[in-house]
Amino acid sequence: MTITFFNTKPYDHQFFEEVNQQYGHQLRFLEVPLNASTAPLAQGAEVVCVFVNDVVDAQVLHQLAENGVQLLALRCAGFNNVDLKTAAALNLPVVRVPAYSPYAVAEHTLALILALNRKTHRAYNRVREGNFALNGLMGFDLHGRTVGLIGLGAIGLVTARILKGFGCRVLGYDVQPSAASDELGVEFTDLPTLYAQSDIISLHCPLTPQTYHLINEESINQMKEGMMLINTSRGALIDGRAVIEGLKCEKIKYLGLDVYEEEGDLFFEDMSGKVIQDDVFMRLLSFNNVLVTGHQAFFTADALHNIARITLQNITDFEQGKPLANAVKS
Ligand code: NAD
Repeated sequence: MTITFFNTKPYDHQFFEEVNQQYGHQLRFLEVPLNASTAPLAQGAEVVCVFVNDVVDAQVLHQLAENGVQLLALRCAGFNNVDLKTAAALNLPVVRVPAYSPYAVAEHTLALILALNRKTHRAYNRVREGNFALNGLMGFDLHGRTVGLIGLGAIGLVTARILKGFGCRVLGYDVQPSAASDELGVEFTDLPTLYAQSDIISLHCPLTPQTYHLINEESINQMKEGMMLINTSRGALIDGRAVIEGLKCEKIKYLGLDVYEEEGDLFFEDMSGKVIQDDVFMRLLSFNNVLVTGHQAFFTADALHNIARITLQNITDFEQGKPLANAVKS
């Protein structure tokens, strides 16, 4: 099949070209993101392949369908950027990569927790300047601390397993009961209990209308003084302004973000020569107890290989008229 990829980087070319040797599709890589003005570039492709910040709204979907696109293949797990109702009305199936490496994201979650706790990001700069003083770098033992996980799916469960290895007490909340989390010794609880008892809270649920701004003034008020908040899931789970207030009054003592609500205007690009206009983002960066990475939790060679393999298999299944195991339901 002819596949037009939007929003690609050199590493996408590398992994997709390598894996495609077993599949034999025609690959066309575009650097531009998908939106209403770039959608006509899909002309001639049977499949369009997009990533987390591409805009796949009703207007774009109509344009794609009119241009003969038959399948939308997401090379990511989240699908909050796609208007699924319109896709269904247009008879345009949407497939995704539900799990490519929960380890990559869970391990990055731990990287944020450990760096924030032991202030590795600050120590790195200090030592390079010949400053070996320890003042201000004191951390705490992770062993024995209570960590609350919101969302106990693939990534939440791997995170729970790692945290158990550190000797943490792990609380979990999910809309679905989870036998796997019981087996790991996660204490399934409600959100008020999780907010009240957790030293660290880490978000692993999808962005939906129900989870939009889940972390807001009201939920922050219920949290422990001096807690750590980690978000490697989707930016809009957090109300950025409420979190800034939480940081200012030191209720939130550490914040680790791999995602940001307005990241579509910033992430995955080199913005170092530009003036960043987002005041909420810049205020967040001004705190030395805030550590932000630019949506890189998924970014391991293992994950990229799996993303390419599962995406191309989804497309081959479609080509061969097989059931689409990874179809996203509207
Ligand atoms: P998953 O589908 O396996 O698990 C999600 C879990 O969240 C499910 O158990 C579901 O029941 C639960 N959930 C749904 N609504 C909820 C709610 N209102 N409250 C609490 N729990 C709720 O997904 P996953 O693979 O574990 O991924 C989790 C999220 O991580 C994805 O939705 C995606 O947004 C994000 N993600 C981020 C990166 C990154 O690079 N930063 C990479 C992959 C995934």
